[in-house]
Amino acid sequence: IKIKCQSNLQSYDIVIQKNSFSQVVKDLSQFRKIVIICDSNVRKYYGESLLQAITAEKKICDLISFPAGESNKNLNTFLYLHEQIALRLDRNSCIITLGGGVTGDMGGFVASTYMRGISFIHIPTSLLAMVDSSVGGKLGVNTSIGKNVVGVFNNPKKVIIDPSLLNTLPTKFIIDGMAEVIKHAFLSGEEFVSFLETNTEGIFDLNLTLLTQIISHSLHFKVKIVEQDERDLEIRNILNYGHTIGHALEETLGYQNISHGNAVAIGMNAVNYLSLKEGFLSTMTFDRMQQLIRQYKLPTFLSDLGLQGDPEKILQFLNNDKKNQDDQIVMVLLQEIGKPIISRTQTIIQMKEAINYILKSN
Ligand code: NAD
Ligand code: ZN
Repeated sequence: IKIKCQSNLQSYDIVIQKNSFSQVVKDLSQFRKIVIICDSNVRKYYGESLLQAITAEKKICDLISFPAGESNKNLNTFLYLHEQIALRLDRNSCIITLGGGVTGDMGGFVASTYMRGISFIHIPTSLLAMVDSSVGGKLGVNTSIGKNVVGVFNNPKKVIIDPSLLNTLPTKFIIDGMAEVIKHAFLSGEEFVSFLETNTEGIFDLNLTLLTQIISHSLHFKVKIVEQDERDLEIRNILNYGHTIGHALEETLGYQNISHGNAVAIGMNAVNYLSLKEGFLSTMTFDRMQQLIRQYKLPTFLSDLGLQGDPEKILQFLNNDKKNQDDQIVMVLLQEIGKPIISRTQTIIQMKEAINYILKSN
């Protein structure tokens, strides 16, 4: 499967296929020196075999890794990676990012800033990276000020996705990635939603045909949106569905206490609740969406995780957040499945109601 992504920066192909390592070797024909960037976990599973596949073609290739984890997606690791590649690469070299979203965001940022930018290829290995972060051109690292505050928009030469790499991904990260898949389904329409409803078991069994389908559905949808608004100024905002409240949960509870997928799942349930109260979603559709989230072992209430939140803190965070957006809380609601709408009219009272709703027990 090939998906084309048109861009003002650089257009590129996304391919979903088995045996991705032999594909990547073909794509490297024009490069002599290559560095693979990965984290410590992915190095163990796939780093050495990709390195071997490339060096077998008489290329000069090195593998550079950093300790796994979001906490290492920072400027220290960024500088470390720069120092490592500086000894090995020139302007006509290529970096391969092999890993999850952390590796893709940071490795792509390193490639984009080395000698003002060299080529890079993403090989995503987590579900989240396959369905979301490897496409759309957002690259960067976290600082003490916040997540992804230092970064650039830039596109890879290619994205090569091999769903069989998910066999080694711990289930909790499969579940996390499914939150983004469900997000894409709710935003895109009935067909994708019913596909997820009927294929849950097969997806958890990592059936390759089904995984290929959800990745392809997700990326077709994301590409369509990103192509219209690369810099995230208007329509791309709809991809923040579930994320505004999700982000507030991550910030107020602490990132180490709630996973991104769990936060987004609860965030989606909260905005669905707002959409229900607005008279957009019917009770039946609302219940159906809640059911789908839960079917993928994701929470819809904070209490599902045994966590307690402070509604005042969460509201305060949302309120501070809004200062960045003309003094309004920007929320993506759903008029129905597949019909997102960017709403700027939510009042504090409505927000409070939605927050209290996701804090209460099921
Ligand atoms: P991650 O890269 O930390 O990967 C999750 C864990 O899975 C890590 O421990 C990793 O070592 C391990 N792993 C990855 N692939 C594996 C495999 N095949 N087998 C075994 N273990 C494997 O995190 P993530 O969830 O992939 O991505 C989260 C990051 O993505 C965040 O930093 C977030 O900001 C970013 N993100 C970026 C965008 C974007 O548009 N650029 C979008 C969404 C998220
Ligand atoms: Zn997300």
